[in-house]
Amino acid sequence: MADYLVTRCSRCKMPFYFKTPQKTKRCPNCNTLLTLSKLSILYKAVNAEDALKIVLMLKQPGANSSFIEASKIMNGDET
Ligand SMILES: [Zn+2]
Repeated sequence: MADYLVTRCSRCKMPFYFKTPQKTKRCPNCNTLLTLSKLSILYKAVNAEDALKIVLMLKQPGANSSFIEASKIMNGDET
């Protein structure tokens, strides 16, 4: 079963999703060829629809920061 992983471009920080076991992907925003294994995974989804929802959420400026803060808290990075 494939996973849909949500990550961010290491160059322009644009969120996007890809489907495993894909190894590389061009950033839809800045066209940089990214090695997916070197990027940190923000979210794992079971289908493309869910992955797209997360990407769209991350693109919202307001929702973005609250989502990132929430994930930091879950990871224990926030003091
Ligand atoms: Zn980019």
